[in-house]
Amino acid sequence: MNNTIIAVDNSGSYRVYLTLSTGMVQEAVDIHGCSHTAAAALGRTITAAGLMGLMLKGEDDKLTVQIKGDGPAKEILASANSRGEVKGYISDPSVELPLTESGKLNVSGAIGNGTLTVIKDLGLKEPYVGRIDLVSGEIAEDFTQYFMASEQQPSSVALGVRMNSGKVEGAAGMIIQVLPDASDEALTALEDMLFYMDSISLLAQDAEQSGAEDKIADLFGRIFKGLPEAFAPHILEERELRWHCDCSRERMERALISIGKKDLAEIAEEGHAELTCSFCRTSYTFDKEELMRLLEEAR
Ligand SMILES: [Zn+2]
Repeated sequence: MNNTIIAVDNSGSYRVYLTLSTGMVQEAVDIHGCSHTAAAALGRTITAAGLMGLMLKGEDDKLTVQIKGDGPAKEILASANSRGEVKGYISDPSVELPLTESGKLNVSGAIGNGTLTVIKDLGLKEPYVGRIDLVSGEIAEDFTQYFMASEQQPSSVALGVRMNSGKVEGAAGMIIQVLPDASDEALTALEDMLFYMDSISLLAQDAEQSGAEDKIADLFGRIFKGLPEAFAPHILEERELRWHCDCSRERMERALISIGKKDLAEIAEEGHAELTCSFCRTSYTFDKEELMRLLEEAR
């Protein structure tokens, strides 16, 4: 089911990546047992990472987004690829702070000061690494700054997760990229639209509750309805972003082998090992026999 639209405006001034990521964020929240604040922080991050994954050209290209701060959430990691598969985790999924004065989830308080790092694996010898200091810890503003400073790509980023009693009522993300030959009139119209736009989490909730069959089209319409035809976006492509973890028993075996013969021998001696995937919380257990076999392979 497509939940993502890639569009360009009729004057060729800007490109839009828009996703209604409610289902994907709910899956992350359920797997990690997130508090509302953690859900917003993780949900915004995996939504942005997912959209960035769709910007990658190669079939096997992937990227990792790491947000590291001195706040109680500590670290958020998200991984996405060009096929629209996304996974992520937050160090402390139970982190909960009082709402801000304006009644919003206090994501910046949970993250604190720190860095945003993007690592792109494009199948080259070395990965591309871009890093910025966090601007606000609200995540959308931090990504805006990342695109400008690290990729020299003027962009506008909006990310939002609306929570109610552990349920994601709406989650969405939008990245608008200014194209090289953008017209001033188009950008002015776009800026005006963004200025008066409701928060994207509220629009996402409206789209979810609209009863529309094509919810992403509904969200797209809600956001861009006010723009004059000349600067309105038209859809180029529809895609799907979805939660997917690619961990496997075989990968865990390789991880065990990679810790080295000495440590592996000690674990084999104990006769039991349990490894849990940080992304999807799946546990893999190994008994003595299996550990001895891995030890053989390590030798
Ligand atoms: Zn996993």
